[in-house]
Amino acid sequence: MSFDVIIIGGSYAGMAAALQLLRARRTVLIIDAGERRNRFASHSHGFLGQDGADPAAIAATARSQLEKYRTLTWIDGTAIGADGAKDALVVTMSDGARHEGRRLLFATGVKDALPQVDGLAERWGKSVFHCPYCHGYELDQGDIGVIATGPMSVHQAQLIPEWGTVTFLLNGALTVNAETQADLVARGVTIEETPIERLEGEAELRLADGRVLGFAGLFTATRTTPASDLAARLGCAIEETPMGTQIKTDGGKETSIPGVSACGDAARVPHSVTLAVADGAWAGAMLHRSLVF
Ligand code: FAD
Ligand code: MG
Repeated sequence: MSFDVIIIGGSYAGMAAALQLLRARRTVLIIDAGERRNRFASHSHGFLGQDGADPAAIAATARSQLEKYRTLTWIDGTAIGADGAKDALVVTMSDGARHEGRRLLFATGVKDALPQVDGLAERWGKSVFHCPYCHGYELDQGDIGVIATGPMSVHQAQLIPEWGTVTFLLNGALTVNAETQADLVARGVTIEETPIERLEGEAELRLADGRVLGFAGLFTATRTTPASDLAARLGCAIEETPMGTQIKTDGGKETSIPGVSACGDAARVPHSVTLAVADGAWAGAMLHRSLVF
């Protein structure tokens, strides 16, 4: 059998798309490897009606609601290939199974390239974050370290004083000119040029000169790239964003390949659960219309 739509990625964006399609009684196959980007965090903030909820619980509730629709097929697994053309797109699974769909939607998310700081990866989503709107409030206007990764980090260092007293740790990732330095100082930011040796405790930075700076939390701007290369291998155009790269889509969320769409973090910036859900809902409705008209 051929599904109306195959959705690769069954997290917020993919499920939001599926919901629209299922409510239009279309057949949908969701393939999901279960690696949501926010799986490192125990609380998700800023999503209306779910503020502070466990991100896994938000996804689980959504999935249980989708599973009530009889035209849904859900496979927990990894897609390793996508081929074919509009109306006859074929997805290959890691176990060799093949599934055919008239349309294909990539809701595959992004991966974060974290700065190479000893001890940082273990604290990602716990005391080290990228988004102040998601995790700034809980730091209670305390001392915040911003670890530079490149030029985009200046923007973070300028914005985050809204949430606390900022120390901007350049860590050899960039140099700031006199104008930027003056701007940061005017915002109350302390610039620290000594490289970071490692992260200790909850959010303590041991510097190369032996000093230890304690923070309520840390922020760092990660580079984000599509979590899956399937869209690129299928020939979908990839575009630059201020944070990395993403799958290029038009206003209706279709990629450069007819019949193939993309939504959520994989295909829009900036990133959040709210925006992924909105993007997915729109992609779902547009895919439905492409099957009707
Ligand atoms: P994702 O949630 O990343 O889901 C993509 C899905 O696709 C995954 O399940 C993955 O396994 C699957 N997939 C990928 N490739 C394949 C494949 N080949 N085969 C099968 N499945 C595949 N946002 C907020 O709004 N509030 C917060 O508090 C917040 N906190 C965050 C904390 C951290 C540490 C991080 C990193 C992010 C946070 N975010 C937060 C951002 C949020 O996680 C993303 O915006 C959101 O997850 C994007 O949803 P998505 O559905 O587009 O992608
Ligand atoms: Mg998704």
